[in-house]
Amino acid sequence: MDQTEYKIYIDNVIRRVETARLKVDDHHIVKIVAVSKYSTSDEIEKLYEIGQRAFGENKVQDLKVKTTELEELPLEWHFIGNLQKNKINNLIDLAPSLFQGLDSLELAIELNKKLAAKETTMDCLLQINSAKEDSKHGVMPEDALAIYKQIETECPNIHLKGVMSIGAHTNDKAVIKKSFETTHEIFKQIPDAKICSMGMSGDFELAIECGSNMVRLGSVMFNK
Ligand SMILES: *Cc1c(COP(=O)(O)O)cnc(C)c1O
Repeated sequence: MDQTEYKIYIDNVIRRVETARLKVDDHHIVKIVAVSKYSTSDEIEKLYEIGQRAFGENKVQDLKVKTTELEELPLEWHFIGNLQKNKINNLIDLAPSLFQGLDSLELAIELNKKLAAKETTMDCLLQINSAKEDSKHGVMPEDALAIYKQIETECPNIHLKGVMSIGAHTNDKAVIKKSFETTHEIFKQIPDAKICSMGMSGDFELAIECGSNMVRLGSVMFNK
């Protein structure tokens, strides 16, 4: 695809997001984070030229490489992966605009300690394992509210902005929908939560219809 064809292709993805969000409400605004983990810096730059500004990576090392290669561009970087304890300082130094995968109280306490030592803060989302899958990270839905409050009171260097979840891993649309509804239900119960991040290339329309206001789109944004 040349750049003109790519632009038409992306317009169509944006139209799909628009159609889904308008089913919720005229004022329901959805932000697209382009997940660039399968893509090169050249490909990111092509998408930037079409107008995309927010990008997400799921490995600290890849985030470092891409932020360095693309440092001239005014991009907004999200870290969407699982954070190992030995990578915390590296992530802090990269200063992502949002860390979407805060998945336990234990990690929050470690991260807070290291943020405090560096006299800085980080905006984060609490990851919820809504479908209770062994293969996924995140807090159990029944524990999410209490953990969210505990992080807010005990971790002053972490600024929680809302919740993140990955849809259930199944072809059963009803089960996927249920997992999104579970996350959105928790989101609604947190008065100051702003972001409900859910929906990927295969399920973003359903996620938006269930109340998502941030979708993380990888393959569909890079046409892979
Ligand atoms: C890879 C990834 C995505 C994007 O996946 P696609 O199916 O390519 O859209 C979204 N969220 C997380 C947490 C990911 O790891």
